[in-house]
Amino acid sequence: MYTHIKLSVLVVIRLLPLSLILYLGCTKPAEIEKLKDEKFSIVTTTTQVTDLVRRLTGDNCRVISLMGPGVDPHLYKPTARDMTAISSADLVIYHGLKLEGKLAATLRKAKDLKVYSVCSVIPQGNLLQSKESDVNYPDPHVWFSPSIWIQCMNGLAKFLAKELPVNETEIFKKAHVIEKEFLDVAAWAKKQFNDLPLNKRILITSHDAFRYLGDFFGLKVIALQGISTVQEAGLGDRTNLVDYINRNKISCLFVESSVNPKALEEIAKETGISIGKPLFSDALGSVENSSIGPARKSFSHDTWSGMMAYNVRSIIDGLDP
Ligand SMILES: [Zn+2]
Repeated sequence: MYTHIKLSVLVVIRLLPLSLILYLGCTKPAEIEKLKDEKFSIVTTTTQVTDLVRRLTGDNCRVISLMGPGVDPHLYKPTARDMTAISSADLVIYHGLKLEGKLAATLRKAKDLKVYSVCSVIPQGNLLQSKESDVNYPDPHVWFSPSIWIQCMNGLAKFLAKELPVNETEIFKKAHVIEKEFLDVAAWAKKQFNDLPLNKRILITSHDAFRYLGDFFGLKVIALQGISTVQEAGLGDRTNLVDYINRNKISCLFVESSVNPKALEEIAKETGISIGKPLFSDALGSVENSSIGPARKSFSHDTWSGMMAYNVRSIIDGLDP
């Protein structure tokens, strides 16, 4: 029987038209890889979400991130290539709370697409509300609260364990390790902010992304723009900020890696104060750079812990040089 099949296959191969053999020979390596790759595929939106999904699934899934370092999710518009990735994914995981602008609505409307928002597990009472008078929605920058982000990570772990039952034990084991790491980073950061003189605990940034950080670590947070970067700061906002800086003898302003620094740079020039290292606000950094965190451990900037280690050091260096 085996010999019979083997012979038949040999006959078929010998009869294959030359053009088809040439076609197979010309298939690009990337396409061959794609054909071979039968892993469960997950499309993620922001870099913070990508970090959690990658860490929880390890090598068990193929994770395709739509946004990279320096990309502003508020202004993000999906490309045709993104839409192809989304439509061929087994699962799409996004942040939610309107952080991704119109992308989230597009995802929710898509038929036959399984989507999950990492913020779906946060109790309403834990969310800060926008301070803007004309809009009323929750502040989406929740990754700056270690306790809320741990809640999101554990919720995601539960969801992924249901989707990938074969990997359930491994996912929960990883979630436990991640939670311990996040708690260590938070305690390390808290100690440093507590050592900062009270009158220096004022963080001024381009857009209002750091309110959860301020709440958690006891910093007063002021921003030139609102919670979203969609609307630019008006002249009144700039005048108020200049007044505030002069009255409170602020010594340092902070621009952000994913937001245009121009307006804040102009204010720094006008008030004669310095600009600190650019902070990671709505996007994590690159895998090629890292910062030292708790226990002298090095954390890559494309991870939550690396972003926090870098931001905490940069804020303290800027406020208390
Ligand atoms: Zn933002």
